[in-house]
This record gives sequence, C-alpha cells and structure tokens, in this order.
Amino acid sequence: MSKKPNLPIDRLLSELGSLAQISAAEPPVVTRVVFSEADLRARAYVKGLCSAAGLTVHEDAIGNTFARWQGSDPDLAPVGTGSHIDAIPNAGSYDGTVGALGGLEAIRVLQRLGFSPRRSIELVIFTAEEPTCFGIGCLGSRMMAKILTPSQALILRDKEGRGLEELRAQAGFVGSLESVALPAGRFHQFVELHIEQGPMLEHEGIDLGLVTHIAGPASMRVVIEGEGGHAGGKLMPGRKDALAAAAELILVLEAAAKSSGSTDTVGTVGVCEVFPGAVNSIPSRVRLETDIRDTDGARRDRVLDTLRAACADVSARRGVTVTTELVNADPPTICDTEILAAMETAAAEAGRTYKKMAAHAYHDSSFMAVIAPVAMLFIPCRGGVSHRPDEYASPEWIAGGVHVLARTLARLAS
Ligand SMILES: [Zn+2]
Repeated sequence: MSKKPNLPIDRLLSELGSLAQISAAEPPVVTRVVFSEADLRARAYVKGLCSAAGLTVHEDAIGNTFARWQGSDPDLAPVGTGSHIDAIPNAGSYDGTVGALGGLEAIRVLQRLGFSPRRSIELVIFTAEEPTCFGIGCLGSRMMAKILTPSQALILRDKEGRGLEELRAQAGFVGSLESVALPAGRFHQFVELHIEQGPMLEHEGIDLGLVTHIAGPASMRVVIEGEGGHAGGKLMPGRKDALAAAAELILVLEAAAKSSGSTDTVGTVGVCEVFPGAVNSIPSRVRLETDIRDTDGARRDRVLDTLRAACADVSARRGVTVTTELVNADPPTICDTEILAAMETAAAEAGRTYKKMAAHAYHDSSFMAVIAPVAMLFIPCRGGVSHRPDEYASPEWIAGGVHVLARTLARLAS
C-alpha cells in the first residue's frame, strides 16, 4: 500500500457540489450548455472563487476565462492549467469541473503553503468544450489555437439557427473574434486535470493516469446510392441495396480497427441514415458517419485507407455508387516529456500510484497542444461512467489529483 498524505479538500468538494447545483435540469442532473443561463451563473460562481483567491480574472471575446496568479517574474510565459465547466444535457458533476475547480484548489494549496511561483500560474476555463450548442467540440480552445478561424466560427449555428455572434453578444461577450487566437509561447506549458471517463484506473486500483498521448479523431462521411424498389416486387437478382452495401462497410471498419495491432485504434459508425426508411422498400440511399481515432496518426490513416478501398470494392461488386468525404482528421497529441517527468516526480512525492496511459477522448488539451507543450492528469471515475448523472469521483481520487497537480504546477512554475 502506498502512503497517501491527506490533502484536505472539503472546500473543493463543497464547491463542486455548489457548481453541480447550477443546472438547467433538476439536480443531481447537470445540464449546462454554453451561454445558457445556467452556464452564465456557473461562470459567475467560478470567477467569484478565483477573485476571492486573489487571481486576476479576464475573459476573451468568446468567454474563455483566464485567472492568473502572478509569479515573481511576470514577464515569463505562465504555466496554464484548467478545463471546462459546460456540460451536455443530462450530465454529471465531475467532467471538466474537477480540472477547473481542482486547478483553482491546486493554486490555493500552493498559496496556503506560502509557495511563491517564479512563472505566473494561470487557470483557464474553456468555453464550450462540449459540442452541444454548435455541434463542434472544444470551441474555445480550437479558436485559441486558430484551428477554427473566426470566419469558420461565424457560420456555426445552434439548433434554433442562432449563430455565435448572437449568442455571445447575449451572454455579454464582445470584442473581435480575431483576438481569441493566442500565439505559440503565450503559455509556457499547460496541464489539464480530468476524470478518466473510462474504467481502467479504477479497475486496476491506480490513483492517477499520466497521459502520454491524446488520440486524434478523424471522421469520414460515406454516402451509398443504390436502387430502391418494392421489397416484394423486386426479386433478389440484380438488387442494388444501399443498406446491404453499408453493412459490409461497417464490418470492414470494425475489422480494420480491431486488427490494427493496437487497442488504441477505435472505429465506430455512429450514424446510419437509411432512405426512404420504410419496411417494404429497398434502401436506395444510406449515409454513414464514421469516427476513427488513434494515438498514432499513420495507423489511424491506414484504417481510413482500408475503408476507402472497401468502398471502391463494394461499389464495383454491388453496382452502387459510393462517395466518401473526410470531414475532419485532427492529429494525435504527443504529451510533453518535461511535464510528464514533473508529474511522475510529483506523484511519487505525494505517495500516489500512477500509470502512463493514452486518452482516447479528445479534450481542450488536444488544441492547446498546438500552441503549448501539454500533458493531462487523469483520476479514476466510478465504473468509467461519464456524461451521466451518476458520474462519480471519490474525494480520495480528487484529493490525489489535486495534490499531484499542485506539486506539478509548483515544479513547472519554479
Ligand atoms: Zn471534459
């Protein structure tokens, strides 16, 4: 058994509880969509806590929030930490918030210990990590990294057809969208504390995951055009059933992901839209939306190639037309060895067990990686459950994460 010095985190637990109460749904269900009334109240709450801790708070034109603890050499680029506080509908209390409020607590722990950082330490609360509103995840960090340009951002719409300009203005965020982008070097390093959102750490009884890679997601749209007809009248010879063709492709993707040589490769068809979608009608058109991720970009792209080849093969054999469109293909993130080394030392000093692991979901850190060296620190969550009201991280797990984050920030900012 490792010795685990107790870091008192009662205040943090009570703040996580208070934040969870700020929800558009009846607690314990958390629904906090960006720029909603609940989101704005949550922002006000967190900014209040930051100000009370003596941090200097400012927001950019889309509400990314920066809370800085001034270092003794304020000209040096700060060390960043933080996460998001928006939540998808029907979510829980820990996704994002553990890194946001836990980051603040790590700063307060260091303040309480009388530590004086050389570099400033800056807490970042990212706008709209969740894709609920605009259908695109990590809006805030994407724009900071200029992966999403202002002109691309301007065409985003929510389900009611409202654009970013309208929603951010209503929420009180003004100023040029151009100013959201940050130059490389604006942050010296960035480290994000987050729940694992998977079962591995809890299952193996390990306190912390030190994230070495963040998988890069790719998405390909596949449209199959066959020939419709009456399900009774048109006999089997000569059919061009678009859904039967799609079924082959779905299985090819699954097999390619499974046989890549690494369990880090995942491939999913999450959308299968069948036209006309009637029980007695042969499917004439199918749209598949695929999601392929890997910590190794080349290995992921080989899966995409396999799928493309299968599309050509199925098209030739079945006489259907298959078109593919690469919707996005973000590179995987390789985490910074210096931050990882600092986290390893910090974990050992704090008496916490850890393992190095990959993150398979993407996070704001994936985009921060474009402008700064990054790494992530995972804590377990019960049953690997996330994005549900019963999402749970124990006080012990949270304390471990905050303790090691504080020690890591202290090393990086010294
Ligand atoms: Zn999250």
